[in-house]
Amino acid sequence: MSDDTLSRIRGAFFGMAVGDALGAPVEFMMPGEIKARHGILREMTGGGWLRLKPGQVTDDTDMSLCIARGICAGNGWDITRIATEFASWLKTRPIDVGDTCRRGIRNFMLHGQLETPPNEWDAGNGALMRMVPVAIYTVSDDALLHRCAIEQAHLTHNHPLSDAACVCYGKMLHLAISGASRNRIRREVNLLAEEFPNFNFEPYKGLATGYVVDTFQTVCHYFFRAKGFEECVVATVNQGGDADTTGAIIGGLAGAYYGFESIPGRWLKKLDRSVAKEIEDLALSLVK
Ligand SMILES: [Mg+2]
Repeated sequence: MSDDTLSRIRGAFFGMAVGDALGAPVEFMMPGEIKARHGILREMTGGGWLRLKPGQVTDDTDMSLCIARGICAGNGWDITRIATEFASWLKTRPIDVGDTCRRGIRNFMLHGQLETPPNEWDAGNGALMRMVPVAIYTVSDDALLHRCAIEQAHLTHNHPLSDAACVCYGKMLHLAISGASRNRIRREVNLLAEEFPNFNFEPYKGLATGYVVDTFQTVCHYFFRAKGFEECVVATVNQGGDADTTGAIIGGLAGAYYGFESIPGRWLKKLDRSVAKEIEDLALSLVK
């Protein structure tokens, strides 16, 4: 792989983690509340409802690391090993776990369940937020991406809108990693919106909730509008709502698109040390 491709892969994983850490302190806040407190939030302040340390990440990054560990620990894709990593993580009593994720992981722990049954309430963003390692592992193989995206999603979320968003975001990451233009990436979103018009993000409604459609629209709105990694992530997290997850998802995409070097050094410096070390170890191992 070229140096450029490797930079985009590292950019995706590190970008996801810094987006999570930047957005988490303003999770559940309204844009006006963020403005009153921070002006524009551009620094890793820590705090928020989870009382985070500056640079601390949340479940979005934690679960992505679980998937990466599950892939790298053995010979490639093994959904049971990924579920086992989720279970080990849940046992550490993480500061934040979404209800749908918790239910799916508990059903694996108690009953060995690897596929949660279809559920109309499963259209949250919990499966989408951990797609970065899946896209890196399946890079250049869209059929494999499709299978792995759905399998990992169904550990906790089984809903057509979540499935469609996971696959589309994975394809967008593949394109970004391969150096495709924003217009080319945009075509993938247009195809998704043809099948599921809910995902149409123009005009942008300004909703950044945990509903996968709102999350996806927010990420697309800012990715196709803002220029540069920092601007994409800053604009997205200042929209508030599920800001750690929108931050993680745009961070992954913008990191893949603009490359590792585009991520502000001051954010990387603040990023939790053990998380940064593990990403450094795993990001490129996913494509070996
Ligand atoms: Mg989170």
